[in-house]
This record gives sequence, structure tokens and C-alpha cells, in this order.
Amino acid sequence: MSLASKSPEPRPGILDIDAYVPGKEHAPGVAKVHKLSSNETPLGASPKAIEAFQAAAFNLERYPDGQAKALREAIGAVHGLNPANIMCGNGSDELLGLVCRTYLGPGDEGIITEHGFLVYKIEIQASGATPVTVKEKDARVDVDAILAAVTERTKIVFLANPANPTGTYIPVDEVRRLHAGLPEGVLLVLDAAYAEYVRRNDYAAGLELVSASRNVVMTRTFSKIYGLAGLRIGWMYAPVEVIDAVNRVRGPFNLSAPAIAAGAAAIRDQAFAATAVDHNLTWLSRVSEALVAIGLRVTPSVTNFVLIHFPEEDGKRAEDADDFLTSRGYILRAVRSYGFPNALRMTIGSAEANEGVIAALTEFMGRK
Ligand SMILES: *Cc1c(COP(=O)(O)O)cnc(C)c1O
Repeated sequence: MSLASKSPEPRPGILDIDAYVPGKEHAPGVAKVHKLSSNETPLGASPKAIEAFQAAAFNLERYPDGQAKALREAIGAVHGLNPANIMCGNGSDELLGLVCRTYLGPGDEGIITEHGFLVYKIEIQASGATPVTVKEKDARVDVDAILAAVTERTKIVFLANPANPTGTYIPVDEVRRLHAGLPEGVLLVLDAAYAEYVRRNDYAAGLELVSASRNVVMTRTFSKIYGLAGLRIGWMYAPVEVIDAVNRVRGPFNLSAPAIAAGAAAIRDQAFAATAVDHNLTWLSRVSEALVAIGLRVTPSVTNFVLIHFPEEDGKRAEDADDFLTSRGYILRAVRSYGFPNALRMTIGSAEANEGVIAALTEFMGRK
């Protein structure tokens, strides 16, 4: 090959990464579109967050506070945590990546689960390390399978709890059992992006486990319950040693000033968040029951989405249902890349959107 035609070569492994494909957004030719493909809230953001965002527009010439102090203090106040143990990120996705860059390198292994969030795999590979995927049981994380996969090379274990796209969770004693079985040098990352939606007395997002350990971190997001996905805000609760290490890798101004201001206002408005939880609980059970009643199987969910399985044996394929729904303006998420070729994930939306999907799927299931 001539010198002139040779382009710079990415590091080994980079071109093996399958880039993340976000949920569909468009339904061509349909006047009214209901996007139920990215687990966004139908209620929008708190009016107080929007007001704070707008006020921030008058200081855009200034760099943001690189420590995001106002936001860390608001999170600390609401959750009863020391802000010194909190780091904010440009979405929790950024924090997942920073943790990988801080703790993983070539030769290391990161454990993920069969139907786990695809970002973990991408970030492990981007760090030059090797993703090790373990089986789940009935779309639920299997602690024994994770523990069996630990080797001397394991540096990180990723656990989404509740999980996406299954919507299932493992109880707090299972998380504790997982932690107890890990070597001290392995970092357990608890991704609790949907924690606010869970109403189960045997669930815990992981705050206590982080506080009591040196090798556990918990990540959270403002993209789901707080309705700020477009602003990109996430946070991590971690031991100070982890915060100190990751801080060395973090970009100095990784959150924008409007994000810091809006995030702080959003998390202080817990009344608004409670409304979103109520809406979700009501519709999560209504949607689940209605879909089961028309012959679909729904994985029991504790989140703001449901995984809907289609009976292929009856000639009802997820792919056809996807086209059928899209033609009517309802955009769900295909989850083939998550190991569910015959399922769709539906975000709980507005009353109108939920009823529309139920009606459309009733028609789809009854056809022929
Ligand atoms: C939505 C989601 C996140 C949040 O990502 P952000 O970067 O904070 O928007 C994290 N983990 C899982 C499993 C998710 O589904």
C-alpha cells in the first residue's frame, strides 16, 4: 500500500466495537408520533428545572463549575450523602466510560450479563480490556453465574439493577451475596438508572453497600425519572479513593452550566418526581395486564418499560409488530441486539400513547 493511501490505524480492538444504536425516532408519513423507544418520561422535566435552565442562558460566556458543586450538594441533600463521595457526569454513560478507563486495560476482564446494557461492553472494549458475558436465568441476572466467571483478570463487574431491557431486578440480599463473593480488588458497578421507579421492599439501589465497602460504586441518571435526557446528567456515588482516581481522568468541565443548574433544581423537586412514579405505577400494571390479556408474554417489570414477547409459533413476529406499530405512530424498541430477537421494549408513555399501543397490538394479535 502506498504511503499516501494509508490512514491512521485505531488501537487494536477499536474496530471490533459495535457502535451503540439508539432507539428509533421517526415514523415516516405518520402525523402524530409517540416515541416509546428510549425510556424517556412522558411528563417532561420539572418546571423548576426548566426555569433554572433558562436562567443559565444569561451566563453562557462563563465556564461551568468544574466540580459541579451545586449539583453534588443538591444530590447529597436529597439522598443524605456526603457530596465528597459524589461525582457528576455528562450522563451516567460518561461515568461508566470513565470508570472503565480508570480501572481497565489490555489483559483485564470486565464481566457483563447476557441481556445487559450495551454501553458496558462498548466501554470495556474501548479500554482495551475483554468483555466476559455470563448467562442470565429467565431474563434475570444470575449471581452464581457471575461469581463462576470471575478470574484473576477480572477487574470490573457491571450490574444494572433494575436491568434494561428486561425490567427485572435482583433483591438486595442477592446483591450483597454477589459482593461478598467477589475478590476485594474487583470493582462492582451498580447501575441504578431506574431505581426511582422501583417499589419493592426487597430492593436497594446500593447506597448502603457503597458506604460500607471500598470496591462498590453506584451510578444514577437524570435522564429517566427527572426527564432531562437531552441535557446529559448522571452521577456516581463511590468511595473517596475511587472518586480521586476517576477525577484524574475526567474532563475538567464535563457538565455544562445549564445542566448543573437544571439538575440541582430537578432533584430538589421531589414532588414532581413522585407524580412521575405514580403515573408509571398505574400504567405499568395496566399496560402489562392488557398485553397479557391479548396473548402476549410480558416480563414482569419494576421500571418504566416492559419487554413484550411475541408468540412466533402463532406467526406473530416482533418485527412485524414493530412495522405495524410504527405505521400507526407508535415507536417501540427492537431488542435483537440484546438477545431478544422476538420481543419489543415499550416505554410507559402518556395515557394516550399507552392506550394507543394496547389498541394497535390488540388489532395486530387479532389479525387473521
Ligand atoms: C438509560 C440508562 C442509563 C442512563 O444513561 P445516561 O447516560 O445517564 O442518559 C444508564 N444505564 C442504563 C441501564 C440505562 O437504561
